Order: sequence, then C-alpha cells, then structure tokens
Amino acid sequence: MRLLVTALTAASLSAQAPPSVLPETATKISEHVWAIMGNPNIGIVVGTRATLVVDTGLGPRNGATIAKVAATLSKNQKLFLTTTHFHPEHAAGEGGFPPNTVLIRPAVQQKEMDLHGMEMVELFSRSPERKELLNGVQFRAPDLTFDTEAKLDLGGGVIARLLWLGGAHTKGDEVVLVEPDATLISGDVVQNKVVPNIYGDGGTPASWLAVLDKIAALPVSHVLPDHSAPGDGSLVAQERAFIDDVRIRALALKKQGGSAEDAGKQLSAEFKTKYAGWPSMNLAAFVRSVYAE
Ligand SMILES: [Zn+2]
Ligand SMILES: [Zn+2]
Repeated sequence: MRLLVTALTAASLSAQAPPSVLPETATKISEHVWAIMGNPNIGIVVGTRATLVVDTGLGPRNGATIAKVAATLSKNQKLFLTTTHFHPEHAAGEGGFPPNTVLIRPAVQQKEMDLHGMEMVELFSRSPERKELLNGVQFRAPDLTFDTEAKLDLGGGVIARLLWLGGAHTKGDEVVLVEPDATLISGDVVQNKVVPNIYGDGGTPASWLAVLDKIAALPVSHVLPDHSAPGDGSLVAQERAFIDDVRIRALALKKQGGSAEDAGKQLSAEFKTKYAGWPSMNLAAFVRSVYAE
C-alpha cells in the first residue's frame, strides 16, 4: 500500500510543474533545522542568537513568506540569508526579507550571479506565474562573501558551515553543514532520486564527483535537498554512485564512437530499469555533459 501511494505521488508530481508559491508551514528536519517544503525546499537554521535561512524562494513574495516563518521559529533578532546557487528560485526572493538581513554567499557564486543572474530571471519570466512573482526583481550586493568556507556561530552551540567545494550544478554551488545536528542542506548537489543537471557552463560530471568526495568526508546524518524529499546521510553515497554509473557508461559509449544523442537515449532506457524507484529518468542532458567533459 505504501509503495502504491509513493508511486501515485511521484506520478502526480511529474505530471505538472510544481507551483512556485511557498506554504507558510515548516517541517522539522533535525534539532535546530527546519524546512519549508516547496519549490524549492527552504532551510531554516535556528540558534539562540541568530537564524540562518538557506535560499529565498522565487521572488520577494516568497522571500517575505520565509521571513515570516523564520520569525515564528526563532526568538532572536539577527537574520542571516544565504543561497545554494544563483538561480531565481533560490536567490531572487531576497527583496522580501527585512532590510537588516545579512546576505552572505560564496564569491564564485556572486560572480556567476553578476554575469547571469538577470538573464535567468528573464528566462524564468517566460512562464506567466513566474513572471508575476519575479516582477521588478533586482539583486543587491551581498554583505559578505567568502572563498571556500564561512562559519556562522548562531548561538547555543549551533554552527552553520557555509561551504563552496567546487562546481557541480553551477559553478557557485554552496552546501551548508549544520553542527551539532550533522544536517547537510545540500542544494542541487545532493538530491534524492533526481537526475543531476549541469546548467550552462557550470561544473562538469568529474568536478561534481570531486565535490561529493569532499562532502563524503563530512559528518552527515540528515540531508535536506532543495528539489526532493529529505533523507539520511546515505543520500550522499547514492548521488555519487549514480553520477559515477552514468559517467562510466557514457564514456564507454563515447569511446565506441556513438553520438551523445544516441547514448542519451540508450542510457535513459537502461537506467530506467536499473534505477526503477526513480520518478523520472531522462539522461539526455547529463550524458551531453559527460561527452563535453
Ligand atoms: Zn538550479
Ligand atoms: Zn535548483
């Protein structure tokens, strides 16, 4: 019965694009970490002195919803905001947060946003629902940037480690490790049964694997991905094994002289059987990324 329900939910989710308006409810992930489950999932880390929000939702209206939920979860006044990458559903809601919010992100991500941020807003605005949510969006400069790691002491023993480990879905992907919870807010870098996707000139399959090797060395018991269900630390190894598997097969087909397009079709069919529990399996784009490596 449980399997049937899961299958139906997956089918109904893939049948329609998920709505971009976030709910005003939060789910507990671990002792100090909450999530607004939506498109995308938003992380809220609560210490005694400060709260950290990870990702903004699409446009200021969603940002304001998140700020409201964060205020109900925290007793403190200080609010930090960071973004897992520069794409609009993760970064374009910043304008909805209170003006004294401290915005912090990796320098690599900021550079990518300066280059491609508004271009992505225009691309997303082709959908009427998203256009309304993104109306008038502007990006402000961050208050703080960092190269590879920023440690935020949120008080009460709660530490958020903001990490840039290399390119994966984009060049500037950030993951956040919350201590002492051992909770990883993983952005698009570690997902739960979602085919990985490299956007534009982001990372490569090989650099994504290198990022996952660094994450594998961290103490991770809970994972909150941004476009799929939360899970335990085994999601990190699952992601790595999947990317490795696709990459090895695609490189073998490339060596035999086949086209990326044919390899994409062949491997999509092959992996649909091999990874039967995954809601969808279109490997065309990721196989192209392997060929281009
Ligand atoms: Zn993205
Ligand atoms: Zn995303």
